[in-house]
Amino acid sequence: MTDNEIFLCSICNVASGDCPEDCKYCTQSAHYGTQIQRYKNKSIDKILQEAKALREFGALGFCLVTAGRSLDSQKCEYIAKVAHAIKQADLGLHIIACCGSADLGSLKYLKSQGVDSYNHNLETSKDFFPHICTTHTWLERFETCENTLKAELGLCSGGIFGLGESWSDRIELLKSLQILSPHSSPINFYIPNDALPLPPQTLSQDEALECVTLAREYLPNTRLMIAGGREVIFGDNQKPLYEAGINAIVLGDYLTTDGKAPQEDIALLESYGYIPATHCH
Ligand code: SF4
Repeated sequence: MTDNEIFLCSICNVASGDCPEDCKYCTQSAHYGTQIQRYKNKSIDKILQEAKALREFGALGFCLVTAGRSLDSQKCEYIAKVAHAIKQADLGLHIIACCGSADLGSLKYLKSQGVDSYNHNLETSKDFFPHICTTHTWLERFETCENTLKAELGLCSGGIFGLGESWSDRIELLKSLQILSPHSSPINFYIPNDALPLPPQTLSQDEALECVTLAREYLPNTRLMIAGGREVIFGDNQKPLYEAGINAIVLGDYLTTDGKAPQEDIALLESYGYIPATHCH
């Protein structure tokens, strides 16, 4: 990728909601009664339709996300079938799976079935994590990232800012990510939701930009992807994000919140002098 190219990734929520975990920032947790769509495995036809539409807009990455704590054998089989169908359609998409904690054997299996990368975020620092989740540990998250690397899948791991963490928590998160050296790192900003137990705070633009600048400093060779929350904090003024080191965005909708229309995002980044990347590397 050249300096003015922006990688376009996309997310497909293939199994939504009813997660037994209690992550306080997540609308998919069953603990908080959020108003979201809930469904089990989306049909492969529907997923293919979404993949084709996003590919036509220029997306190179397509991430299959399931709610829930971990990648069990049923999810593994389902994701493998979906990956097969996408590869067969020959869309040229880099397939990412995001299905929670995962052991090495399951990840190796996904790789053998056509999945290219695995996404599992550390979310925040090890010390702050118990404040935002009590049903699983930060170490479990770190181990899944290590398993991903051992399985020789691409690792996509990042975090979420604006949960009430301190600057030293942010630095600790980035130091941990630096150890893992992910090929891609999603940077999310918390989107307040009245049903969630976190205070309805939003980071200022300056604070959010400082998070991106620090992430670029700690992860100089990682594809830094701005994900949820960028519209809430930056509106149409997204140029500073790219100038701070962002070189990938999520195109289209997020897991449970709407993104911009893809053509609007592309027009915006082109107006700043950037162009969508045409190759993964
Ligand atoms: S494990 Fe994942 S889907 Fe479940 S509540 Fe936590 S972040 Fe949300």
